[in-house]
Amino acid sequence: MPGPHNPPLHALIFLGPPGTGKGTQAKLLHQQFHLPHVSTGDLLREHIQQSSELGKLAKTYMNQGQLVPDPLILKMLFERLSKSDCSKGYVLDGFPRTLPQARALQDYLKDKTIPLVINLSLSKKKILERLTKRVVCSQCGTPYHLLYAPPRVAGVCNQCQGPLVHREDDTKAVILKRLQVYQEQTEPLIEFYTSQRLLHTLDCRGDKQAIFREILTLMTPNNAGQ
Ligand SMILES: [Zn+2]
Repeated sequence: MPGPHNPPLHALIFLGPPGTGKGTQAKLLHQQFHLPHVSTGDLLREHIQQSSELGKLAKTYMNQGQLVPDPLILKMLFERLSKSDCSKGYVLDGFPRTLPQARALQDYLKDKTIPLVINLSLSKKKILERLTKRVVCSQCGTPYHLLYAPPRVAGVCNQCQGPLVHREDDTKAVILKRLQVYQEQTEPLIEFYTSQRLLHTLDCRGDKQAIFREILTLMTPNNAGQ
């Protein structure tokens, strides 16, 4: 029920390569506003786990090594967004990834709200610095960062004294490949949201609280959506 007397529906869409802290910002938004963090990857896993009709259908594609088609993903997503916990808003993660997905989402949101599209931006050099310094406990999985959240004793887990190792997908070559794929995939989305005057680019060199404050400023009605 959109209308002038209703509080704004905060639909946040995050774009940004790995290493820019999308997950961290989503967590902060959840703590402050109770906005659910909606990830299409998680939704897909849930549907498959629960063997829902959509989950069973999705599985037939995955079993043949095919991508789950957009209409199915969209159905799962819009069903999730219509639940009561999303009534004040939500943060979308991992969606949209393609131009057709972005268009379908705009169609869906059209008479509900103007989404806030935040493009988290960081130089390749900084991304590499952040991601290659992530380590994880090989026994209990506790994550550390050699610069921002180092363990008390080098190479040793604070929790269980297990040895810390680099995650396999955090090697330089793998990260550069992921960044390239991300850029190719996302370029059309950046153009699309720019042409809709919805894109806000935030520089992510600062700490997470500074970035969060900038997001809060964008969320106030006078700034959001322009
Ligand atoms: Zn541990």
